Amino acid sequence: MAELEGLEFGKSDFVLLDEVTMEQFMDNLKLSRFEKGRIYTYIGEVVVSVNPYREMDIYGKDTIDAYRGRELYENPPHLYAVSDAAYKAMKRRAKDTCIVISGESGAGKTEASKHIMQYIAAITNPSQKAEVESVKNVLLKSNCVLEAFGNAKTNRNDNSSRFGKYMDINFNFNGDPTGGHINNYLLEKSRVVQQHEGERNFHSFYQLLRGGSEEMLKSCHLHNDPALYLYTREGSATSNNDRMNHKAVMSALDAIGFLPEEIRSINQILASILHLGNVSFASDGENIKILGLDSVKHISELTATDPDSVSKSLLFRTVATGGGEVIEKGHTEQDACFGRNAFAKALYERLFGWIVSRINGIIEVKDYNPVLHGKNTVIGVLDIYGFEIFDSNSFEQFCINYCNEKLQQLFIELILQQEQDEYQREGITWQHIDYFNNQIIVGLVEQQHKGIISILDEACLTVGNVTDTVCLESMNTKLAQHPHYTSRKFNPSDKSMDFQKHFRIRHYAGDVTYSVDGFLEKNKDLLFQDFKRLMYNSTNPVLKEMWPDGQLSITEVTKRPLTAATLFKNSIVALVDKLACKEPYYVRCIKPNEMKSPVLFDDARCEHQVAYLGLLENVMVRRAGFAYRQLYARFLQRYKMTCEYTWPNHLMSSDREAVEAIITQHGFHDDVAYGHTKLFVRTPRSLFTLEQERAAL
Ligand code: ATP
Ligand code: MG
Repeated sequence: MAELEGLEFGKSDFVLLDEVTMEQFMDNLKLSRFEKGRIYTYIGEVVVSVNPYREMDIYGKDTIDAYRGRELYENPPHLYAVSDAAYKAMKRRAKDTCIVISGESGAGKTEASKHIMQYIAAITNPSQKAEVESVKNVLLKSNCVLEAFGNAKTNRNDNSSRFGKYMDINFNFNGDPTGGHINNYLLEKSRVVQQHEGERNFHSFYQLLRGGSEEMLKSCHLHNDPALYLYTREGSATSNNDRMNHKAVMSALDAIGFLPEEIRSINQILASILHLGNVSFASDGENIKILGLDSVKHISELTATDPDSVSKSLLFRTVATGGGEVIEKGHTEQDACFGRNAFAKALYERLFGWIVSRINGIIEVKDYNPVLHGKNTVIGVLDIYGFEIFDSNSFEQFCINYCNEKLQQLFIELILQQEQDEYQREGITWQHIDYFNNQIIVGLVEQQHKGIISILDEACLTVGNVTDTVCLESMNTKLAQHPHYTSRKFNPSDKSMDFQKHFRIRHYAGDVTYSVDGFLEKNKDLLFQDFKRLMYNSTNPVLKEMWPDGQLSITEVTKRPLTAATLFKNSIVALVDKLACKEPYYVRCIKPNEMKSPVLFDDARCEHQVAYLGLLENVMVRRAGFAYRQLYARFLQRYKMTCEYTWPNHLMSSDREAVEAIITQHGFHDDVAYGHTKLFVRTPRSLFTLEQERAAL
């Protein structure tokens, strides 16, 4: 609880609200905090952050110094205080910790993650050891690269992360960073080939076109106008400082340790994708041919492959017949377009994955000997997409929202668990409180054989013409009884969805109606083997490295590859396991309005976020036990002047006894419990009285 702010800034910790009601919560958040320039407020150790949409003078060196090594309650709420708490726990108690940042698109997660990393970088390595500085430099620079390749302008956020990111930072026994590891989740690759109106493709394409040198563009056969390329046409009118950012990204790649030929290959792959978008097909009724042979020529040159093979893989695919015979089957125009787009998406996805693994290779902790160097501890930082509820929700939203259900479950479990552990440690009886357990929704999605993912996978593996609608039928039948699943079919009065196309999940965050259109195709995530082989046969070693599965012949290719949903599920399960064994710290980000305005606070939108982030529940859980806890010595230090037995000196035999004297004199005995090392206070009223008395002295 921050104690240094005046009462005009309201309650710096929501657990101190007089009553936990939405009204009081919102009043505090809006009137006392946000409108007075206080963007951070606590719920215990959780930071609630409201995006200010303006530069704040709260991230400078002075602020960093003020928070360094301090306790949470010694300063006003800040990301730095929680970063410091995570760092201290890691350093002093050798605990692995993690900071989980959540909130919807544009709420400020990525900015928060950068502030956290900057803080950690600033407070470590006081002796300026070169090898530690170099690790810190790579960690910080990697943000710039990942944002260029993984972020895009959307209608919600000009710099929206279109992938989830979890970064582990490793520390040695001195508490200095020695390395790290980045995990990336579900890049929204469909954006490579298509963007919604007003949105852009990934920044990297525009940066190359607008910022690349004349010489580089020439070597890539590119002009500098994004309107000339189908894949970048939609977003060509807007610019996010592409030119400047191009320079920054190129120098970041260089500083991280990418070799010149690797950087060249990255640009060549981006260029190949742009050229690929300009390839189209025409049909004479029987056969199809390629329109835009120049583009094909450029692609073959840029990918170091044979031009005829490029054309061939765009027009035909190799299939193995039931009898084991291998034949070449000509594409229909539709198949060819599908194949081209799938290839473009896969090229980008693999490029992104390769960049991440290349960074990981550079920053991985090498030669660490626990006997020699002590325990290697970790702070993890998770910046992952929040709940998405759009007008039209597809497979991507389904995956993202499932991920949020998993994280929400972990949040509830860990927060409760933490409380429980502390009460146990301190010898205090734990009073169980009820909370909504969203396990039932997680089960609806992931349960083996019965859950939505299993049903989707089954449909994808069934030979024959299983359409999205057929799959929906199967879901409707199997899930009819599930309390969190709704089909319009069983609810004909609901006119808001078409029963042949939609299903609805009652998520923790609210109801989301999904359109099943494209679910199966996205889940199958099919890429013809011919493209993989083409890339594997490239004479560019960088490109070849990205396509190891291209060496398989068609008869060796597994017929039952894991689907996109299952791969995603597995990665999220692994993520949750990783987080669950660390001491968690949370940042819950709120987006104040849709206009990116620094002065607007949209009550309804904010209230909705507070509701679905479960913040009221969080306050209640925190208060159901004890709203406030403090080490005896600290408590005494702060309030000793309010009691005649402890001021100016106390004669008690321990701090605990002195604290008991203060509590008894004020008549708060029923409101507290005495732990082994800490005093626990149930309601904030007692504390206020003490605070007021203290202030009046
Ligand atoms: P997404 O899920 O789309 O990636 P996000 O939660 O990561 O969204 P950010 O990109 O961090 O959102 O923030 C969106 C924009 O809001 C930033 O580009 C910046 O303009 C502004 N912003 C966020 N946090 C802050 C802050 N602490 N100070 C100033 N501006 C901020
Ligand atoms: Mg982001």
